[in-house]
Amino acid sequence: MDPQKVNGLDYFLPTKIDDVLWLVNDAVAKSEIICVRGAAHSFPLINTLEKGSTGRRPYKYVMLSNLYGIKFLENDLVKVDAGCHLGPDPWDPLGVSNKENSLLFQLNNKGLALPDLGGITHQTIGGFLSTASSGGSTKFSFEDALMSVDIVTCEGGVATLKTFSRPADGNEDDPFYGAAIATMGLFGVIVSATFKCVPKFYITGDEATTYEADCEINLFGNDITGKDAKPSLETFFKTTDYTRLMWWPQEGVHKMVVWKASQATELQANAWAKNAYEKRGEEPKLLKPYEEVPYVFNSPALATMGADFLFTAIGRWPD
Ligand SMILES: Cc1cc2nc3c(=O)[nH]c(=O)nc-3n(C[C@H](O)[C@H](O)[C@H](O)COP(=O)(O)OP(=O)(O)OC[C@H]3O[C@@H](n4cnc5c(N)ncnc54)[C@H](O)[C@@H]3O)c2cc1C
Repeated sequence: MDPQKVNGLDYFLPTKIDDVLWLVNDAVAKSEIICVRGAAHSFPLINTLEKGSTGRRPYKYVMLSNLYGIKFLENDLVKVDAGCHLGPDPWDPLGVSNKENSLLFQLNNKGLALPDLGGITHQTIGGFLSTASSGGSTKFSFEDALMSVDIVTCEGGVATLKTFSRPADGNEDDPFYGAAIATMGLFGVIVSATFKCVPKFYITGDEATTYEADCEINLFGNDITGKDAKPSLETFFKTTDYTRLMWWPQEGVHKMVVWKASQATELQANAWAKNAYEKRGEEPKLLKPYEEVPYVFNSPALATMGADFLFTAIGRWPD
């Protein structure tokens, strides 16, 4: 199998599981360390690995861009190859990823969904599972839907395809939980995973920025009952489908951003939207697709680049 240049590096791009088995055996024979790249969103990790090995064992770079197939099994089960992206990845160096071959688009077309995702959808299935960074809520998580994972492991120096399935009795000591949910990429190369999907749903919710004292949550105390009832932070987390809090504790700021949302049907979501516009004294409107940034010339590209620049600058401050 010959590598191809990606970002100036030699990357192996397997097209089938047998290729992955071959690559692992080849790496063993040459005493190489395999570095699998997903969407490289866990920066600076991947960029650091791409600078080359710092030890005696060289790296073998592997990217599963060509393993992005999806197979719908019975009912709501879907088996997806590890190189498949959740949504389109605009920075895919090979340009393979697009909306149509993304997992979420294809699930949506079947009226299906996953219970929870991260804040972005560029990630690959393999990368997302390896880092367990989906940021679930106390009610829903991406991993809830995971039924099994197929990993090319290397035990006794020989590449082997192993499937770890969720135990029916939920026994937490079952190897599934270690191998599928907390591997951190250490067990081998994830080649595919099977998910039990949920029916497609909408979310409704709001975001409010207030002073800590005016926050809808009693941030630092217990539940408050009565006229000025407020849930404690624990109660709020336990009763809210999806939430994200941002606390600005600095002197002179003391503000809290509370983002919260709940699952809804299309009908409920449209009624909610209509009501929300009316409350603001605006003409009632129905739902519109989620836009993370304002669209300039009908495209999110300019605002995304601006946000990217800003966050990169903050991330690298003060260097
Ligand atoms: C600054 C920053 C912001 C982030 N923001 C968000 C966010 O808003 N929402 C969110 O959900 N997550 C976020 N993340 C987390 C990021 O999305 C996760 O790390 C995600 O897993 C990356 O997926 P990927 O496909 O890009 O994997 P990569 O970044 O390419 O790889 C991640 C790790 O998994 C390994 N790996 C990749 N594929 C496989 C495979 N098939 N088998 C075995 N190992 C594999 C890689 O070697 C690497 O160690 C953020 C991370 C950073 C650094």
